Amino acid sequence: MIDLRLIREARERIGDIVKMTPMMSSETIAKDIGNDLFFKCEHLQKTGAFKIRGASNKVIYEAQKNTQHVIAASSGNHGQAVAYIANQLGITSTIVVPENAAACKKNAIQAYNGNLEFCGTTSEERIERAKKISEENNAVFIPPYDDPFIMAGQGTAGLEILDQLDGIDEVYIPIGGGGLISGIATAIKESNPRIRVIGVEPAIANDTYLSFKEGKRINIGANDTIADGLRTSIPGELTFPVVQRYVDDIVLVEEQEIMNSFTYILTRMKQLIEPSGAVSAAGAMKRKPEGKRIVALISGGNVDTEIIPQLLK
Ligand SMILES: *Cc1c(COP(=O)(O)O)cnc(C)c1O
Repeated sequence: MIDLRLIREARERIGDIVKMTPMMSSETIAKDIGNDLFFKCEHLQKTGAFKIRGASNKVIYEAQKNTQHVIAASSGNHGQAVAYIANQLGITSTIVVPENAAACKKNAIQAYNGNLEFCGTTSEERIERAKKISEENNAVFIPPYDDPFIMAGQGTAGLEILDQLDGIDEVYIPIGGGGLISGIATAIKESNPRIRVIGVEPAIANDTYLSFKEGKRINIGANDTIADGLRTSIPGELTFPVVQRYVDDIVLVEEQEIMNSFTYILTRMKQLIEPSGAVSAAGAMKRKPEGKRIVALISGGNVDTEIIPQLLK
């Protein structure tokens, strides 16, 4: 289990790399939903998502032990974050991506001097290849969520929320593998247990919701939610016990509700975000606590521009 001390250490370690992202609010939205709603803007983070928090905490720690090469298996935000921090530290990164990875994602990784390695189309294939490359090259595999350094790094966003706003009642966090919510819930509950931490998942990617209800990790198999950062099929081995301990509730949102939230944030807040980033606000708008001071974390802004028309329908 991670704790508040590990998260504070992470904040020290990554302080020079990571931005303190702004907290935004809108009076119109507050009126619409009958709550004081604030957005923690991780789409404005370095590399466009919170993933740099965990990745830099882990990669800086490994580089201090003289690691010269790190590997990740993700074409998305985690892969970009690992390539970015490795480049900053002057070490090599290899990012294993699917054969059909989008051009914009490949370009982003290459812009950070990451080596691309193409492998299959499923995450199992990529992880297997990444682990094999790490063994052959004496490199370190950087997992996307199931690692104490990754979880503690993501938790630094929770410390910032507490520093930036007083009197918070509820915080809404999207759930993929659970690295983000386990870090943030630890930061918040071990600082102020009165604040409620609510997880949000797409209804068609409800692995953590089902596992939470059943009290054990359940694999739901492949799914194709528009929120591509949340497609994980089973909660993490290390993240799930933290979710069980500290998360108060999990809300499910439909695909249409995610798209509505995307459109709402674009038109009302003038913020362009990715579908996964819109999920927390969709959960807050659905649950509608009433008269509360709430925070929804916008987790990322890396959207393929080609899918925007589909999101706006
Ligand atoms: C990775 C990611 C998530 C989910 O984070 P987990 O730590 O896997 O739960 C949510 N939103 C975005 C934009 C992401 O990149």
